[in-house]
Amino acid sequence: MTNMIVIAELSKGSIHPSTAELVTAAHAFGGEPILVVPCTDASVADSVQSLSGISKIIAVKSDVFDGNDSSGWASALDSALPSGTVLCLATTRSKDVAARLAARRNISVVQDVIRIDGTNLTSPIYSGKANQTVSVSGEAVITVRANVFDSVGNDGSCDVSIVDASGDVKTAVQEVMQRASTRLDVSEANIVISGGRGMGSPANFAHLEAVADTIGAAVGASRAAVDTWGEIPHSMQVGQTGKTVNPNLYIAVGISGAIQHLAGMRSSKYIVAINKDADAAIFQHADYGIVATWEEALPVFQEALSAMLG
Ligand SMILES: Cc1cc2nc3c(=O)[nH]c(=O)nc-3n(C[C@H](O)[C@H](O)[C@H](O)COP(=O)(O)OP(=O)(O)OC[C@H]3O[C@@H](n4cnc5c(N)ncnc54)[C@H](O)[C@@H]3O)c2cc1C
Repeated sequence: MTNMIVIAELSKGSIHPSTAELVTAAHAFGGEPILVVPCTDASVADSVQSLSGISKIIAVKSDVFDGNDSSGWASALDSALPSGTVLCLATTRSKDVAARLAARRNISVVQDVIRIDGTNLTSPIYSGKANQTVSVSGEAVITVRANVFDSVGNDGSCDVSIVDASGDVKTAVQEVMQRASTRLDVSEANIVISGGRGMGSPANFAHLEAVADTIGAAVGASRAAVDTWGEIPHSMQVGQTGKTVNPNLYIAVGISGAIQHLAGMRSSKYIVAINKDADAAIFQHADYGIVATWEEALPVFQEALSAMLG
């Protein structure tokens, strides 16, 4: 049996909770994985020692993991990882690292997986219009979307072994600009409320932020909103040329439901749409639809949520 290796996802210097979902995905593929933690300080691995269902933890230390150079990440991981099938989260950086690692090892890469049935892997294609299932024989590097698998439990106790690795850094970060907003990122949230051009002006996104604050959601936007208003940053854009999100709940407000927007959010577990046009395409994909202007619907929605959540 080939090794199963899960690469922990890092976010702001700590291990992202979705790492626990990757362990479940590894079990679905058929093995108790080795959990690899890329880090500059091995103590970051302490937080995953209690994850259930892992055979061992390897903290791979290298200065390259301080930056965003995917080729450096891939070379450091390649030198430290045993052979085997590798799973990581389908984030922008990890997908890049996954492709480079697969190329270095001359093995297959399968991106954006949303279902694992033994060695059969399903992922969306054609902007999410169809799913394809591929069968993997031999080793592969697989990226898995967040919020697809349940997290494993926390009743394990694994020792951490530390491996020093050097990476071949091709590019270095000269300056890190702080994100303009400290709000939750759409790709990390369990609930996303997004606004489109139908919001009328960027100032009206404050109404979405108020709902987001009540339910712990991130605020997203359509490309039309991002392109029309400089105040709405590209980091909020959901869709084919923006971010792919897979939350439990996606609320689309004043968004028509163009195919390019659907490409980034149609795999959300529940979709709620608020649009004044009953014929808007978004309603064909929504689990719950409210035909109304956001000016009518959002205050009622906000009041009901506040009453419900105290
Ligand atoms: C190559 C390419 C890539 C693209 N990538 C993306 C992408 O990543 N993400 C993306 O979103 N788009 C993308 N687009 C653009 C996409 O085709 C659409 O133009 C865009 O999604 C439309 O955004 P919208 O729904 O906010 O605006 P509109 O199409 O203008 O729709 C606004 C909606 O708001 C409703 N509305 C108006 N007023 C109100 C009100 N007061 N209350 C409630 N509803 C109201 C209207 O009925 C309408 O349905 C891409 C396009 C191309 C060609």
